[in-house]
Amino acid sequence: MNLHEYQGKQLFAEYNIPVSKGKIIFSPEEVINACNEIGGTKWVVKTQVHAGGRGKSGGVELVDSPEMALEFSKKWLGKRLVTYQTDSKGQLVNSILIEECTEIKSELYLSAVVDRESQKIVFIGSSEGGVNIEDVAKNYPDKIIYQGVEYKDQNLVDQSINIANVLKLNDDQTKQFVPMIENLLRLFVENDLSLLEINPLVINDKGDLLCLDAKINIDSNALFRQPKINDMYDETQEDPQEAEAANNDLSYVSLDGNIGCMVNGAGLAMGTMDTIKYFGGNPANFLDVGGTATQERVTKAFKIILRDPDVKVVLVNIFGGIVRCDLIAEGVIAAIKDVDIKIPVIVRLEGNNAELGAEILLNSNIRIISINDLAEAAKKSVELAK
Ligand code: GDP
Ligand code: MG
Repeated sequence: MNLHEYQGKQLFAEYNIPVSKGKIIFSPEEVINACNEIGGTKWVVKTQVHAGGRGKSGGVELVDSPEMALEFSKKWLGKRLVTYQTDSKGQLVNSILIEECTEIKSELYLSAVVDRESQKIVFIGSSEGGVNIEDVAKNYPDKIIYQGVEYKDQNLVDQSINIANVLKLNDDQTKQFVPMIENLLRLFVENDLSLLEINPLVINDKGDLLCLDAKINIDSNALFRQPKINDMYDETQEDPQEAEAANNDLSYVSLDGNIGCMVNGAGLAMGTMDTIKYFGGNPANFLDVGGTATQERVTKAFKIILRDPDVKVVLVNIFGGIVRCDLIAEGVIAAIKDVDIKIPVIVRLEGNNAELGAEILLNSNIRIISINDLAEAAKKSVELAK
């Protein structure tokens, strides 16, 4: 799960990690007051969307009057921002972060990720911030440090200093940086983060460190024990089909193709997509209805798959391991009646009571193509999708 920049910065503030003074607004009426409360004569106004690259797309502006901030809010609230990190539809803007404008001396880069290989949290730092870190990694690999760290480890201070050296911090800044890394690490561990990125981390006109951006990603599997974070979920930033599937406990990922896939088990779903690809077709989605493929879940899954206008055919591939194929067949028939499907549906059932399931499909008066062999079923769906 992703957080908005303002939510990330609220967390930063709780952990004594330096951020600019700011206020989040959800309507133009709040803008003038917010600017006055923050004070000063210059502000930065930032659209809040789950995507970076806002600066280059007009989603971040420096303004020197509350009226300009108001104009910016009227221009963006309720609109969609397209950046190089979004799809062509962009992301809905429903809030704007207003901050006091910082005089920037230099822009640095700092992030942290879980590194599976070393089984550690690794901080990535560079003196070249504010730009695409992928470009720095490609063109100036020696300007980047990858420093593995461990929570509550006595070497953490030395490890922080290693990073500070690559960021070319002076003694005063390093004194701020060492506790900052410790706080970031504590925030990372205590909130089950999978990624944290500050781009840019800046040195301001007083020579102090300040986090001007905050991107935070939380391990969704840990949300059950992070109720506070869970409340920060913003459904408007998710693909609507994916959000609906998640609400119904279905794993759904929308893809570019035209063959809708309904499968039980993530491994079988991947195998089904591979088989479709092998025969020259393109899956419209990944969908795992889970081990308990009940009629209710199958109906919901059909509805979600069919909401994608590109879907020309649905391939149902269910392995009856825990569930019985005859029950699945009845579920599929009921779901098809319920949803009123106009496109071909190919059903492949295998495992527990597969023959009985196939018989039930055959005897129903519904147009279902029942094929027992996966390769044949995939081939047929590719053919019909054309
Ligand atoms: P992103 O483009 O989505 O990554 O959004 P950022 O939060 O990184 O903002 C984009 C850019 O705006 C930054 O790289 C900074 O150069 C600039 N910016 C953001 N806040 C300030 C500020 O307080 N003062 C100044 N001078 N520039 C800022
Ligand atoms: Mg940024």
